[in-house]
Amino acid sequence: MTEKEFMEEDYRKRMEEHHRKMEIRREKRRQQRNFHIFLGILIPALLILTFVGLRFALPYMEEHNLLSFGKKTGPSWEKEVEPLSSGSDITINQGPEESTEEPLSEKEEALQAAELCAKQYDYDKAIETLQALDSTGDSSISDKIAEYEAEKEKLVPADMDQITHIFFHILITDTDRALKDTRQGRQYNSVMTTIPEFKEIIKEMYERGYVMVHMHDIAEMQEQADGTKKMVKKQILLPEGKKPFVMSEDDVNYYIYMQGSGFADKMVLDEDGKPKLQYTDKDGNVSVGDYDIVPILDEFVEEHPDFAYHGHKAILAFTGYNGVLGYRTDETFDPNSSALDPKNKANPNIEEDKATVKKITQVLKDDGYEFASHSWGHINFTNRSLEDIKRDTDRWKRNVEPLLPDSCDILLYPFGADIGDWHPYKKGGENGKYDLLEEAGFRYFCNVDSTQIWMQYGDQFLRQGRRNIDGYRLYESYSGKADRVSDLFDVKKVFDTRRPTPISWED
Ligand SMILES: [Zn+2]
Repeated sequence: MTEKEFMEEDYRKRMEEHHRKMEIRREKRRQQRNFHIFLGILIPALLILTFVGLRFALPYMEEHNLLSFGKKTGPSWEKEVEPLSSGSDITINQGPEESTEEPLSEKEEALQAAELCAKQYDYDKAIETLQALDSTGDSSISDKIAEYEAEKEKLVPADMDQITHIFFHILITDTDRALKDTRQGRQYNSVMTTIPEFKEIIKEMYERGYVMVHMHDIAEMQEQADGTKKMVKKQILLPEGKKPFVMSEDDVNYYIYMQGSGFADKMVLDEDGKPKLQYTDKDGNVSVGDYDIVPILDEFVEEHPDFAYHGHKAILAFTGYNGVLGYRTDETFDPNSSALDPKNKANPNIEEDKATVKKITQVLKDDGYEFASHSWGHINFTNRSLEDIKRDTDRWKRNVEPLLPDSCDILLYPFGADIGDWHPYKKGGENGKYDLLEEAGFRYFCNVDSTQIWMQYGDQFLRQGRRNIDGYRLYESYSGKADRVSDLFDVKKVFDTRRPTPISWED
């Protein structure tokens, strides 16, 4: 091999080697590229799978109490939310498994029931309950009946033209969050009442001889000899010195805009089937307890049964636009309805929620509450046209009334804005608004009036003025500006001094 040949051969070999290395590098790059494409598909796919998995697993885990975010703390009178399923390792002490108490006999049960009726001035029912027993020759029963008859004799008729009516909104649980120095906070400060205030008010009123009655105890529609129906004034019998009054609570809807502002979230039934409130504190801990009027009043009446005439408690008034009792039951939240409002978050559990609300309103009725319309859209009946009122009333009757145990005949005007002035309503009057409301079944109408008592009996209706017992009214009296509450309670004992002052009217 010549030197030249040798160099050519060497060059050829080096070129081959170079090409071989280039080919390996190309192959490596091809493999890398394929790997990246593979990763590019795999990673998003894994992310999607994880997301979908969690989406379904998290609610399941939450529901089965497999997650525990944050420790639940709170005052000892709060009851914690109970886990919903057996998947939890929390055990709740429900007392001894076997009751050592003997079940009550029929007689003992009747005696207890009769005693409660008697304490609530329903002597007729007390006597009826005992007479229903087969007690021939049982002198303890006949003695008791005689005792109730004698007690009943001592009752005197209340003045049916002197019945005051007070009202509240839902109560403030957390004053720090509710009463901020914002327009909303100042508004809450003027139109709301705090829990300690409410507790002191009912205590004071009880001590002064006030007894809660229903509007249906004052007057009711009765059939006349000619077959027509007429509103007839009734008689309330109480011991000397006792005074009937009506209490109502407006907007028991637990509105969306109020969530997180220191008020209850919604009404629920606890493990004993009693109406309580679910509440979320500032740290996000959820508990069930006495965070509004219903359970506070229930407990008070349990201790003082004679505060509730025949067991009758407050009127609860509902609007419709945010659903009822904290459940988004309105058609404007219904994902399957053409009425769904795009501004609302659709409620996929709407049917379940409606069933829950129906169950709760039945419990409330049995517990002594009655219900009122506060209009669907919290409208002003004075200013709105007849057409507006008709549309609103239809919506209320379509969305709220079916959730109540019975049809509703009480209307508590939002803002107290009545369809008319002090003149009695008459057919064809009030620009047709009265006929419309009568046609819709309303017979009890309440405006807002700061005087102690305003009542008007008509042929087909009963009207009452209601007194707002709220921050504004309490401060007005507390600061000595005007006293419109001293017939009910001593404001010095009631006023919650945690309130920022002065309190001006904000609505
Ligand atoms: Zn209202």
